[in-house]
Amino acid sequence: MFENLSDRLTSVFTNLRSKGRLSESDINATAREIRVALLEADVALPVVKGFIENVKERARGVDVSKALNPAQQVVKIVNDELIEILGGETRRVRFAKTAPTVIMLAGLQGAGKTTLAGKLARWLKEEGHTPLLVACDLQRPNAVQQLQVMGERAGVPVFAPEPGNGVGDPVRVAQSSIIEAKRAQHDVVIIDTAGRLGIDTEMMQQAIDIRQSTQPDEVLFVVDAMVGQDAVNTAQAFMDGVGFDGVVLTKLDGDARGGAALSIRQITGRPIMFASTGEKLEDFDVFHPDRMAGRILD
Ligand code: GDP
Repeated sequence: MFENLSDRLTSVFTNLRSKGRLSESDINATAREIRVALLEADVALPVVKGFIENVKERARGVDVSKALNPAQQVVKIVNDELIEILGGETRRVRFAKTAPTVIMLAGLQGAGKTTLAGKLARWLKEEGHTPLLVACDLQRPNAVQQLQVMGERAGVPVFAPEPGNGVGDPVRVAQSSIIEAKRAQHDVVIIDTAGRLGIDTEMMQQAIDIRQSTQPDEVLFVVDAMVGQDAVNTAQAFMDGVGFDGVVLTKLDGDARGGAALSIRQITGRPIMFASTGEKLEDFDVFHPDRMAGRILD
């Protein structure tokens, strides 16, 4: 992940190492190199522009009398700005005052929602919660069964429509699951919803209906980081449609460039909350902007 960007930035900083002080042309040259590195990493143009402006402005204020040399100070500035575009602070799940907390997952088909549902359930269970997984993806063949497999692996029960009992109506399934969660004392409900291969009015309406009928505490937009700039476009469409509170980036293990990760927070204004890095249930973690920035500059 981020290999090319890391390498590019490292060479930018190496070039600065011999400088005793930074001239305006040093700053401009450095900014240009960082700009190219970010664009090559597939970071969205408006994000790159803002980033470069901030870096330039702060680099001009670099104080040569400080303990850190100019190159180190620029590294620090870039690190700070990376943390900023990645969201600054780690954003934790907001649990409801009265159980159950409802977490709804939304995203395109293949984004990794069902897998993520299982990972999130396992993680919540380890954190001491008693989650209930809810199968509301009634569109994709085998999605319910796939969630049941995930639930089994995570040791978390799955609420799924029984034949003849609201089959085909994800809104009813979602509503019933909350009643079931209260009855069986589950403190978190994780609703897996249907996606399509592309943005589609019917899919979006279904997500909106589930959202309205269950009033989730958190709507998480799940997106495949490997699709780069497309992730940002899809995020925008979901933002305008169902709306969401946080982002989950999946398949970061296969994302060599990192453009989606670096753009999505700024473009949507919503924090990245979790990252998924493989097909196993354990390949999942809370997203920490500072650690991610550290990895890029490692
Ligand atoms: P859904 O249609 O959004 O529910 O997507 P799925 O959960 O079925 O995931 C689609 C495919 O991506 C499956 O083959 C998953 O095993 C795979 N997948 C999900 N998350 C990750 C991840 O973080 N890394 C990798 N490499 N594969 C993943």
